[in-house]
Amino acid sequence: MREHFEIRDADGAARIGRLSVPRAGRTIETPALMPVINPNRLTIEPARLETEFDVDILITNSYIIHQTDRIRQQALDDGLHDLLDFDGAIMTDSGSFQLAEYGDIDVTTEEIIRFQHDIGSDIATPVDIPTPPDVSRERAEDELVVTEQALADAEGCEVGEMLLNAPVQGSTYPDLRERAGRHAAATDLDLFPIGAVVPLMNNYRYDDLVDAVAAAKRGLDADCPVHLFGAGHPMMLALAVALGCDLFDSAAYALYARAGRYLTVSGTQQLDDLDYFPCSCPICSERTPADLRAEDDDTRERLLAEHNLHVTFEELRRIKQAIRSGTLFELIERRARGHPAMYDGYRALLDHADQLEADDPVSKGAFFYASAESARRPEVRRHHQRLDRLETPETLLLTEGGAPTDSAYDEVWRVRAPFGPFPRALADSYPLTATLPDRPDRAGQCAAADGVRSLAAANPGTTITLAVDDWHDDALARIPDRIETESLAAVQERETDGAAGDHDANQ
Ligand SMILES: [Zn+2]
Repeated sequence: MREHFEIRDADGAARIGRLSVPRAGRTIETPALMPVINPNRLTIEPARLETEFDVDILITNSYIIHQTDRIRQQALDDGLHDLLDFDGAIMTDSGSFQLAEYGDIDVTTEEIIRFQHDIGSDIATPVDIPTPPDVSRERAEDELVVTEQALADAEGCEVGEMLLNAPVQGSTYPDLRERAGRHAAATDLDLFPIGAVVPLMNNYRYDDLVDAVAAAKRGLDADCPVHLFGAGHPMMLALAVALGCDLFDSAAYALYARAGRYLTVSGTQQLDDLDYFPCSCPICSERTPADLRAEDDDTRERLLAEHNLHVTFEELRRIKQAIRSGTLFELIERRARGHPAMYDGYRALLDHADQLEADDPVSKGAFFYASAESARRPEVRRHHQRLDRLETPETLLLTEGGAPTDSAYDEVWRVRAPFGPFPRALADSYPLTATLPDRPDRAGQCAAADGVRSLAAANPGTTITLAVDDWHDDALARIPDRIETESLAAVQERETDGAAGDHDANQ
C-alpha cells in the first residue's frame, strides 16, 4: 500500500487521485501536468505558472543544474525553489536523457540523488537507461538490468521526506515492460515513470504507445502513481489517462512554441497557416494569428507557449470532469476522430478492454454509442460476461422490437445492439440505459450476436428464438444454428393473431 497516493474517482482504468508530496507540503490532484522548466531558459517564469496557470507541480533537470557552474552553487546555497522562484512541488530528472543522447554522463545514481536532495528537490530520479523503441531484445534486456540496479541504488539512498521515481523501461517489448513494472512496484520507491516513449509519440505511433503502457500497467500495482514521461500533447492526454496514467510533463508547450507551432486537442498547427484561432484562451481571444506573427521572436514564442499551456490544462480539466461524470470513453471517441493516429491509439486501447474492465466502476453516468468502436467498450464486454449468471426459462424469445402482449414463450427478453440480450428487469440499469443510434451498425449487431451466442452457450437447455429485422449477414452468421431466427414482423403478426384468437374464444 502506497500511502502517499489515494484514488478518489475512476472511469475504466482512469482515476482522479491525490498525490501527497511531503517535502513540498503539497497534495497534488491527479491527473496532473508538470510543465518542464529548462533552468537556463525560462520561457514562462515559474512564478507566473503558479499564479496564472494554477500549476502546483513542475519538473526540471537536476543534471543541467549540476553541470552549469552559474546556477549549481546558487541551487545548493538557496535551494531549487528559490532558484526557480516557485513554491509548489518540484520533480527533478537525473540526466538519464543526456545519458541516452550522448552515451555517457559523469554522475552515478547515488551522486545525483544526493545532489537532488541537497538542492531541495521534492521528487528525485535515479540514472536509469531510457531504452528507445525497436532496439534488439538483447539490448533491451541488458539495459533493463542496469535500470533495475539503478532502482536498487536509489532504494539504498537516505533521502528523508523526498520521494523517489522508479522508472519503468523495456523498449517496445510488452513482456519486458510488464516485468519492469512488476520489479519497480516491488521496490520501496514512490512514483513510476514509464520511460522512453517520446520517440513513439513523435512518430505518431499511439497504438504502440498504448501497448507499452498497458504492459507496464499490468506489472505495476493499482496504487502506483504512474507518470507517462515526456507526454504532454493535449491530443493524447485522454487516451493516456484512460490507460491509468496519472502524471504528465510538457516540454512541448515551450519547444513547439519556439518552432512556431500551435497546439490543439486534435493535433498541431503551424502559426503561419492560421487565419483564425480556434481557441478562446486569454492569448487567442485578444489577438488574431496575424497579430501574433507580427510580434518580435521572444514575445511570439512566449505568447504561443502560453496558449499551448492553456489548451493543455483546459483538456486536463475536461478529462477530470469526464472521469467524474463517467464519460471518458465518449471524450476519447471524439479525440479519435481528430487524427488517424489517435484512431489507431483508440482501437489499440480497446484491444485491452479486459484489462480496463477490471478497474471500471459498475455504474456510470452515460454510455453514448458514437461509433463502431463503441461496440468494443469494456461495458459491452462486461455485459456479455454477466449473461452467464442470468437464469433462463425453458423457452425464451429475444426480440429487438416491443414485447408481444400474449406470448407463446415462457419469457421475452430485449435484444439491443451492441449489448445483445437482457431481461426487462435490467433495462434501467447501466450500461443498458445507453443512448444508442436508431440505425445500429454492423459492429454493434455483431457484438449483440456475440451476446446471444454467450447466452446460448451458458444455457444449453433453453430453447431460444431470436426476432430481429435487417441484421447484417455477418451478425446473423454468428448466431448458433440451434437458435431459431425469425423476422420481427413475423413474430409480431403471429402474436397479434394469437391475441385476436384468444379474444374470439372468450366471446
Ligand atoms: Zn489559445
